[in-house]
Amino acid sequence: MATPTANGNRSLLPIPSPIWLRRALLYLLLLVLPLSGGVVAANSGIDDIAKRRGDVVLSGASSGPLGDRASYLVEHDMPLDLTAAQQALRQGAFRRQDRPAVGFGIASPPVWLHLALINSTDRPLTYQLLLGLPWLDNLDVHLVRQERLEHRWQGGDLERGAPFLVPAMGYAFPVELLPGRTEVFVRAETAEAFLLPVSLLVQEDLSAASRDFRYRYGAFYGFLLAFVFYNLMLYFGLRDRSHLYYALYVLSFVALSVIYTGHGFSWWWPEQVEFQRYALFTTMVLYAAAGLLFAVRFLQLDGVAPRYSFWIRRLSFLVVVAMALFVATEQLDAAVYLSYGVFSVFTLGMVLLGIFAYLHDRAKGFYFLPAVLCSMAGLGIGLLTAFGLLPANPWTISAVEVGLMLEATLLSLALGSRMRQQTQARHRAEQLARIDSLTGLLNRRAFLTDTTPVWSTAERHGRPISVILLDIDHFKRVNDRFGHDCGDQILQEVAKLLLQSCREGDILARWGGEEFVLLLPETGLVQATVLGERIRRGIERQQILAKSQGVPLTISLGAAQRQPGNTLNDLVGVADERLYEAKRCGRNQIVPPVFEPVSA
Ligand code: GH3
Ligand code: MG
Ligand code: MG
Repeated sequence: MATPTANGNRSLLPIPSPIWLRRALLYLLLLVLPLSGGVVAANSGIDDIAKRRGDVVLSGASSGPLGDRASYLVEHDMPLDLTAAQQALRQGAFRRQDRPAVGFGIASPPVWLHLALINSTDRPLTYQLLLGLPWLDNLDVHLVRQERLEHRWQGGDLERGAPFLVPAMGYAFPVELLPGRTEVFVRAETAEAFLLPVSLLVQEDLSAASRDFRYRYGAFYGFLLAFVFYNLMLYFGLRDRSHLYYALYVLSFVALSVIYTGHGFSWWWPEQVEFQRYALFTTMVLYAAAGLLFAVRFLQLDGVAPRYSFWIRRLSFLVVVAMALFVATEQLDAAVYLSYGVFSVFTLGMVLLGIFAYLHDRAKGFYFLPAVLCSMAGLGIGLLTAFGLLPANPWTISAVEVGLMLEATLLSLALGSRMRQQTQARHRAEQLARIDSLTGLLNRRAFLTDTTPVWSTAERHGRPISVILLDIDHFKRVNDRFGHDCGDQILQEVAKLLLQSCREGDILARWGGEEFVLLLPETGLVQATVLGERIRRGIERQQILAKSQGVPLTISLGAAQRQPGNTLNDLVGVADERLYEAKRCGRNQIVPPVFEPVSA
C-alpha cells in the first residue's frame, strides 16, 4: 500500500512522519516478520471481481489467509447436514467477515464455512486445504462440485489417530480441483477457543512451513526445558523452593504448548481422544496454579502480605481440585469456563503481583514485573485472539511463545540476582555475628575461633604466646555518674586506644561488658606485662571526654603465658585469676607486675 507524497515519490508507509519514525517502524516490521515464517502470503492469481464476490481464483500457487473470502453460518439450533447448509447458503444465510482469520470465542456453537474455489487453468490442481488450529474438536470437510458431494473428510482432535493434523498449523486436507468451480463446505465444532483460519497451500509450501514450525518449536521447547532442568538442579542443590516452582511453572507451559499445538496428540497419544479432550483445560489450570505459587514464593509474599499469600495458595488449590472434579464427572462446559476464567484472572493477577512487588521492593520487582508483563502481554494477546477480539495472524499467534521465552529469561535473571542478594545478606549476617556492635571489635565467639590457628602454631612449635585480660575499674560508677550513653562512648574510646596499642598479629576482642582480651603471639610473660603496663598508663593518662568533661579512668589487668599442656581456656582462666588479684590489691595495676631490674 503506497501513498504518493508531495514531491511525487512514493513513501513506504502511508503516514506523514519524520524519516526516523518511518525507519523505526520499518525495523520493527523487519523484526517481527521472521515470526511469520509459517504462513505463506502469496495472493497471486486472484482478480478483483472474484475477490469482491468471495470466489478464490487459483492457478497453482498458494493462497494467503482466506478468512475474508469465506462466508460463515453459526449453527444455533439444530445440527445441519450438507444439504441443509447448501440450502441455507442459497437463502443467503451465510455471512462474510472481513477478517483474514475468523474467531467465534469460547464454547461457541458449531460453525459452517463456505468457500468457492475457481481453478482458472485447464488442468486439475492439487492443494492442501489448511483449516483451523490443532485444538479444534471436529472438522467435517465437504468438497462439492455442481451441487454434488465429491469427497468428505473428517479431522479434528477428537478424531482417533489424529488424521490430517499438522502440528502447530492445523488440519491439511488434500483437495483436487478440476478446472472450473469447486465449493468447500466445512462444519467445525470445538469446546475450546474457536478460531477458524483457512488457506490453500501447495504441498511444497505446506512442507516448508511445517518444517519451519518444527524448527521453531524444537528451539522453543529446548530453550524452556533447559531452564526447567537448570532450575531443578538448583532446587536439588540449594533446596530453595522458588526454583522448584519455577521449573514446574515453565514445565507446565511446555506441556500446555505440546497440547495446544497438537504435537502431543499427533506424536504421543493419537488414540487417546478422551485424554486430549480434557488435557488442555487441565493443563491451563495447572499452569496458572504453578505460576501463582511461584510468584508467591519468589516475592516472599508470606512475609509481606500473608493474607494475600494465604488466599492465593488456597484458591490455586481449590481451582485445581474443582478442575479434577469436572474432569472426573465429565462436565466439559464447566471445565471450559473454569479454565479460561482461571486463565484470565491469572493473566491479570500476575501483573498485579508484579506491580505490587515493584512498589513494595524495587529490587524484587525489577525483573519480575517486566518478566510477567512480557508473558502476560503474550498470553493476553493470545486470549484476545482466542475470544475473537484480535485478528488471528502469525504475530498474534506467536505472541505467547515469544512472551514466554522473554519471561523465562528474565525470571532466571531474577532468580540469579536474588541468589546474589541472599549470598550478600548471608555474608553480612556472618560478619555481624562476629563483630561486637558497640565497639566494632571481635566478640568472644569470633575471638575463640580466630585464635585457634595461631594457638595451634604456637603449641606445635613450642613458641611463647600470652593473654591479657583487662577490665575497667568501677565502671558502674562511671555509668551512674555520667549516664549509660557516656558509658557506651567510653567503651568505644577504650576500644580505640587498645586497638592503637596492639601490634600486627595480636588479636583483640571484647570479652564481655567492660572486659577486653588480647592474645599476643610470639610474646612471653615479661613482654606481655610490659605491653599491659603501657596500656594501663596510656588509659590512666588519657583524658577520655564524655559530655565535654574529662572522665578519670583506670583499668586492671591480668597477664599469663602459655605453659605446656595449657588450652586457651586454661590460659584465659589464669589471666582472669590474676585480674581478680589486681582488683583485690587496689585496682589500676597489672598482675604480675612488670619485672623491673633492681639497679645497683
Ligand atoms: P570493678 O572495678 O570491680 O570491675 O567494678 P565495676 O563497676 O567496673 O564492675 P561491675 O562488674 O560491678 O560492673 C560492670 C558495669 O559495667 C555494670 C554494667 O552496667 C557496665 N556495663 C557493662 N556493659 C556495658 C555496656 O555495654 N555499656 C555501658 N554503658 N555499661 C556497661
Ligand atoms: Mg569493671
Ligand atoms: Mg566487671
